[in-house]
Amino acid sequence: MSMQMDAIVIGAGIAGTSSALQLARAGHRTLLLDRQQFPRHKTCGEFMSPETREMLEYLDIYLLDNEVKPSTMDHAKIIMPSGGEIAAPLPGPAYGISRFELDRLLHEQATAAGVQIATRTAVTDIKQLGDQSYEVITQQQGKPVHYRAKAVIGAYGTKKPRGIPYTQEERDDTVYVGVKSHFQGIMVPSRVELYFCDGGYVGISPIEDGKVNVAALLALDVVQGSGKSVPDILEAATRSNMSLRKRMEAGTPVPGTQVSIAPLRLSDTPNPWSDYPHIGDAMMMLPPLCGDGMSIALRSSLLCSHWTDRYLLGEIGYTEWQEGYSNAANQTFTQLLKRARRIQKLAFAKTNRFYPGIARVIPGLASYVIKSTRLSESGSLTR
Ligand SMILES: Cc1cc2nc3c(=O)[nH]c(=O)nc-3n(C[C@H](O)[C@H](O)[C@H](O)COP(=O)(O)OP(=O)(O)OC[C@H]3O[C@@H](n4cnc5c(N)ncnc54)[C@H](O)[C@@H]3O)c2cc1C
Repeated sequence: MSMQMDAIVIGAGIAGTSSALQLARAGHRTLLLDRQQFPRHKTCGEFMSPETREMLEYLDIYLLDNEVKPSTMDHAKIIMPSGGEIAAPLPGPAYGISRFELDRLLHEQATAAGVQIATRTAVTDIKQLGDQSYEVITQQQGKPVHYRAKAVIGAYGTKKPRGIPYTQEERDDTVYVGVKSHFQGIMVPSRVELYFCDGGYVGISPIEDGKVNVAALLALDVVQGSGKSVPDILEAATRSNMSLRKRMEAGTPVPGTQVSIAPLRLSDTPNPWSDYPHIGDAMMMLPPLCGDGMSIALRSSLLCSHWTDRYLLGEIGYTEWQEGYSNAANQTFTQLLKRARRIQKLAFAKTNRFYPGIARVIPGLASYVIKSTRLSESGSLTR
């Protein structure tokens, strides 16, 4: 026997949880599935852009009203391997909060809205049935459990569930590894620090309780042979940036906060649909250097929940659901992704040692570059 729901959201990260929350608030019986146990640490720079905060507030989630107080940041500093530096103000105040706390807070709100959450539940297959409804097959404590729903949303991050064939993926050839660890003892003023190094970058930003988050995105072929643990990979990154090495020497890793993800490939184009809608990283992996993946996750969940709500209410049919969401997602994200990809390429170009000099000559340039990797602001929260 399969349990019948209106909607099943696969993946309880920021995209999936916010989407389930919206569907439940709209009155739909919504199930949120994740293979991990929550709260959990997640590979992320934990830099929350002004746009991310704005979208959380649109969902009535106010970070500052909670007992866990995020840190604030008002500028970014880029530190080149040569020691050259570029500083630029952020377009608005940004926050630093661990994904452990943020995702916990989102789960609390989802539960309050009536979402049924099943964690430690790995989705192994998704079947489309004759009447265009779906059957979702999961493994819970070694046993298969089946669910059915009229709508399914894929919010499972960069890796497709096992058993779901890879279609033509619009992802880049370069393969990265992402790592993160919290540290104590590194004192960062109210800014995000981005250290460029061989094969990628390391971001350091303050989070709650006086801790900092250290996250890195590095080309797999550059770190291969340096050891597989998170400390080994971070150590490898410090070899080509002495300022980073000095910064890290002051800190002690917080036990239990080290996580990594590999292989990781950035998107060439958004991929909003294959048999069902995708949101968040499952839809598009933005270069993490832009520090705005959470905002994309939230915006895609807003767009998708709007079209899925209409489909579940019977206002539109299956084809309109597919076309409505796919068009909205392509329109919102395609240009942004292109700009972000260009900036990532420029950032890691061999000539990047000249950028601090150029930024001194053109003082507004760094701020312009930061702004151009952002989704446009509030009025555009409409669908
Ligand atoms: C190194 C790095 C640094 C970054 N820094 C930043 C930053 O500073 N700021 C920012 O805004 N963004 C940043 N990002 C991007 C940001 O982390 C992501 O864009 C965001 O977390 C995407 O959220 P999501 O909900 O789509 O995916 P996730 O948060 O990855 O959630 C997906 C969930 O799906 C679950 N899942 C997967 N497969 C299955 C399955 N088969 N069955 C059940 N559940 C499943 C997983 O367990 C997971 O919990 C960074 C990313 C990286 C890699």
